[in-house]
Amino acid sequence: MAVLDVIKMGNPLLRKVSEEVGKDEITSPEFQQFIADLVETMRAESGAGIAAIQVGVLKRVFAMEMKKNDRYPDKGSFALTTVINPTIEPLSPEKVEGWEGCLSIPGIRGRLKRYKKVKLSGLDTNGERFEKVLDDFSAIVAQHELDHLNGILLIDRMPNMETLTFQEEYDTYWNV
Ligand SMILES: [Zn+2]
Repeated sequence: MAVLDVIKMGNPLLRKVSEEVGKDEITSPEFQQFIADLVETMRAESGAGIAAIQVGVLKRVFAMEMKKNDRYPDKGSFALTTVINPTIEPLSPEKVEGWEGCLSIPGIRGRLKRYKKVKLSGLDTNGERFEKVLDDFSAIVAQHELDHLNGILLIDRMPNMETLTFQEEYDTYWNV
């Protein structure tokens, strides 16, 4: 297991479209090791999600996880999900607005809207197809991570830049 380096905004790799993973590749020891390292990196960086491209690997894979936090019991926790070749389908047109951050844009937050309820489909780490209904925070995280696989960053989704905010200013003016 290893914590990998997270690449940051400005690295041209973050703007590339990641490639589908072959089914045979998924069960290879190298790929399984990569997934373990990706999850370890997400946890080490306290991220709610991470896409492979954020560690410089152009493959359509992301992981997401939110552990229960006693200080914020209302912030929905969700179990570790790793998905390969994911697709997302909105289950209703309803959108929710929220603050997002990104491990590749450290110290910055911004407000944007995402679908409130989605169906996430793809392959699990055994190469088996699965689907999962996600809502609220978990749905937002999945949409954010899928965007990474298409070279899209959260700032691209912001309706305007008025809420583009440094963490310190977020704590002072917005997180009250
Ligand atoms: Zn991100």
